[in-house]
Amino acid sequence: MITPLKLVDVNKQFKDGDRQIEILKNLNLTVEKGEFVAVIGPSGSGKSTVLSIAGALQSSDSGQVLINGRDISGYSDKEKSLVRLKSIGYIFQAANLVPFLNVRDQLKLVTELAGEWNDDAKKRADDLLESVGLTSKAKKAVQHLSGGEKQRVAIARAFMNNPELILADEPTAALDASRSREIVGLIAQEVHDKNKAAVMVTHDESVLDFCDKVYEMHDGGLRLRK
Ligand code: ADP
Ligand code: MG
Repeated sequence: MITPLKLVDVNKQFKDGDRQIEILKNLNLTVEKGEFVAVIGPSGSGKSTVLSIAGALQSSDSGQVLINGRDISGYSDKEKSLVRLKSIGYIFQAANLVPFLNVRDQLKLVTELAGEWNDDAKKRADDLLESVGLTSKAKKAVQHLSGGEKQRVAIARAFMNNPELILADEPTAALDASRSREIVGLIAQEVHDKNKAAVMVTHDESVLDFCDKVYEMHDGGLRLRK
């Protein structure tokens, strides 16, 4: 079985003035198909950094980043952008939708970029909008949606290209408690019904029951919370 995500001895430092600060120290993480993993930890502990390295958005200083069994560490920017487009669905804290496009066109755009906007994709977009409860808003411009609705569009968009790996960085930060459970429930459903792998960074203890494992940032690495 191919492992969707494996981080091996990942290190990352940032410059703070003339000091180097080690944010990630020999960090290891494996996420198998069908697994929904949470990463928690204090602000500034490196959660977003781990996620963005796993999501091919920034590089590690050393270590391996294996997406579907392939080490992307040495990939060119172009190769990384293809991995992001085809294999990774990234959900940001603020939905990060494209202004002025309607709901359905947010989904169309990512699939057009992948060169796959065909009849199957159109049906998939409509099915996804139905599953997140937005069929009646498909033609609405996203700036007129509520925070919860925008986040549901972002989720549908992240699932659109059928990625093996879903990465969510504090997806519920802007939402109230019941909307938060709805959003995280949608991610859990995609993972468990379709055998995807997902990592969610969160501060929100009230959604951890959806996750199969909870890791805490600890001294630049991850440790399993019992
Ligand atoms: P978290 O998501 O857990 O709040 P981050 O991963 O965003 O933490 O950041 C971890 C630490 O690394 C913070 O101290 C942050 O200021 C620092 N950091 C993150 N990105 C950069 C960067 N591009 N340049 C310098 N420092 C950074
Ligand atoms: Mg963060």
